[in-house]
Amino acid sequence: SMEDTTRKCHKRKRCIFNMFDVAYTHLLLTKFTIISIEMLCGPDGELPEKLRNLEPRLIEHVSNEIMDRDPNVRWDDIAGLQHAKKCVTEMVIWPLQRPDIFHGCRSPGRGLLLFGPPGTGKTMIGKAIAGEAKATFFYISASSLTSKWIGEGEKLVRALFGVACCRQPAVIFVDEIDSLLSQRKSDGEHESSRRLKTQFLIEMEGFDSGNEQILLIGATNRPQELDEAARRRLTKRLYIPLPSSEARAWIIRNLLEKDGLFMLSEEETSTICKLTEGYSGSDMKNLVKDASMGPLREALQRGTEITKLNEEDMRPVMLKDFENALQEVRPSVSSSELGIYEQWNRQFGSLS
Ligand code: ADP
Repeated sequence: SMEDTTRKCHKRKRCIFNMFDVAYTHLLLTKFTIISIEMLCGPDGELPEKLRNLEPRLIEHVSNEIMDRDPNVRWDDIAGLQHAKKCVTEMVIWPLQRPDIFHGCRSPGRGLLLFGPPGTGKTMIGKAIAGEAKATFFYISASSLTSKWIGEGEKLVRALFGVACCRQPAVIFVDEIDSLLSQRKSDGEHESSRRLKTQFLIEMEGFDSGNEQILLIGATNRPQELDEAARRRLTKRLYIPLPSSEARAWIIRNLLEKDGLFMLSEEETSTICKLTEGYSGSDMKNLVKDASMGPLREALQRGTEITKLNEEDMRPVMLKDFENALQEVRPSVSSSELGIYEQWNRQFGSLS
């Protein structure tokens, strides 16, 4: 009958489409992940099951925009946070390096939550983990899934986990994870964001039960918005607080030394540290940037033209530059916000 023919025709079309997709996916993977095409294909030379039914353009997006082949952050670049570094080494890096030892009772959790004020080094930790464990790093901001990928978030999540699965060991870093796994739901919640959340939890469950070498790291500065299901899957929850006075001193020294501009005395450094109580790591970075403009501004005020200025003719960065910069760069986290993190940490955080 007519209907039968149409159906057959559709079926054939779909089949051709699938074949085309597989071929195209192959091409993309060859192009964008040159080193690892063998890793992606099984012993039979076929693409892994997980990637076969995914849309090539989404795989392309994951490979190009989300996957970071060179995270370029080492532990030594991160100031302070000794406690977090120790926990993460034990929980994440060793298991990724020695899966043969970390099984059974020692099998690691697959979900880690980093929470705390913005600009304290959560993303840096994620990248350092990938760097230290020689894992592929995937970075996605959860809010982009709901804003930029309207209606397609689910598919992108599937592509993300699919590609990660083929690039093990892998670290998937989900920034602002609260916007994906928040407890605000029911009436107000859109059907699509509920589906997205479900898809995400399914994917997590999938590698949680298997032998996959995939770690999911969620970062948030609103931990109180996470619901019970999210907390259950993010088994280890580390508080990433504002930098201590020593850590702030370290950031100043480290940034200025890189440019050969560090000339402050101990005493001057400690004065700056006293004046920057409550500043986050990224506030400190902005402060140093602003302070390092001081010598430049002064040289220009003396009448030197910017085009004729020699870098050697500028004086080093001094305490007064920091004092001026402190007027411009204010701390971005309020003390009342800190109270919320500390309370949540006492209730749900991994304290040891
Ligand atoms: P978060 O993810 O917690 O919001 P990031 O890790 O993106 O913060 O940090 C933003 C920037 O602030 C970093 O690129 C770095 O320059 C600086 N920074 C923040 N915390 C630290 C830290 N503990 N040590 C060194 N630099 C830091």
